[in-house]
Amino acid sequence: MAFRTLDELPMDLRGQRALVRADLNVPMVDGRVSDATRLSAAVATIATLADRGAVVLVLSHFGRPKGVDPALSLRPVVAALGEVLGRPVAFVADCAGAEAEAAVAAMAPGDVAVLENTRFHAGEEANDPALVAAMARLGTLYVNDAFSAAHRAHASTEGLAHVLPAYAGRTMQAELSALQRALGAPERPVAAVVGGAKVSSKLDVLRNLVGKVDHLIIGGGMANTFLAARGVDVGKSLCEHELGETAREILARADAAGCTVHLPYDVVVARAFRAQAPSEVVNIHEIPADAMVLDIGPDAVEALGDVLKTCTTLVWNGPLGAFEIEPFDRATVALARTAAALTEDGGLVSVAGGGDTVAALNHAGVAEAFTFVSTAGGAFLEWMEGKTLPGVEALRQAA
Ligand code: ADP
Ligand code: MG
Repeated sequence: MAFRTLDELPMDLRGQRALVRADLNVPMVDGRVSDATRLSAAVATIATLADRGAVVLVLSHFGRPKGVDPALSLRPVVAALGEVLGRPVAFVADCAGAEAEAAVAAMAPGDVAVLENTRFHAGEEANDPALVAAMARLGTLYVNDAFSAAHRAHASTEGLAHVLPAYAGRTMQAELSALQRALGAPERPVAAVVGGAKVSSKLDVLRNLVGKVDHLIIGGGMANTFLAARGVDVGKSLCEHELGETAREILARADAAGCTVHLPYDVVVARAFRAQAPSEVVNIHEIPADAMVLDIGPDAVEALGDVLKTCTTLVWNGPLGAFEIEPFDRATVALARTAAALTEDGGLVSVAGGGDTVAALNHAGVAEAFTFVSTAGGAFLEWMEGKTLPGVEALRQAA
């Protein structure tokens, strides 16, 4: 890959101070970390650098403070990070300035500290060269391990890569190589599953994918918009009728690019959006006027499973139905299990991402079986849109 990793750093890092941009923006309930997934993701990089004798200084944002806000201090995260890391972690009450410089100077090789919320400085989001320089004085090298923040050109996610020797951390590296395998230079044929509520939130994703994949599988509420654009009466379904022209344009682009678009031909309909609402399976041309489509049907799912069997690579964003309410989780669960089985058999590289998608794969019990599941949210979507992520681009330029 076109960026440097920890493998390019010397084994002996005594005398070096590594500024590690991690994503410690964890969910908290009553002042305690309620989900340590992101802390666990930071462990490999921090431990590797500390084991080689570097002083490790962890930078992260936390929430969206406007200036210094004690309620959004990273201090409560420090003990939780120490727990998953299995070694003591200190806290430094600022990420730049004389006090931070003094605290860092007193640290010994292998010591780890979390520096206070980068967003307490207005210069973070402004990518202010003065803040970048002040932070850079604390370290001798920069490691970006926060793919999930790489779609922002902030001081700690982008600016630092230009002023210190810059490396990708282990989590960043894993994410980038998985995404590269899925869409950068995938083995063909490639299938993309795009679902979720609305076409409008994924227009750029769809436009990018039709030019890159061999099969585009459209499910979720957005399938209704495409069906309606083709003249299907979708009753009371969630549907963006005003996007009919846009949907037809995407279908035309797919056609021109040789991408086969798969829309459901049977669907599950109900009269209420709630769990256990009475439901029936109907052909798309028989959707009752007073019903809404809440999932794609069993025949469609079976056909889509057959499509996946012909593919080598799968990228998935968005559930196929209203998976939060049973029984409208069935299509998502069934296709996810097919993808997981194909992956475990070694025939499919499967990469998925998106907040609800990750929840749906966990619900189906198959997240572990996928090749890679990204928890990066906004950064994952921007990557699916084909955008250049500033944090990643800066690492490339540094190499
Ligand atoms: P992600 O967070 O993975 O990017 P989205 O946020 O785009 O996914 O979409 C998830 C939402 O789409 C879920 O809340 C789900 O209930 C909703 N959804 C999927 N299919 C339908 C449908 N047929 N009707 C209404 N909502 C749907
Ligand atoms: Mg969502």
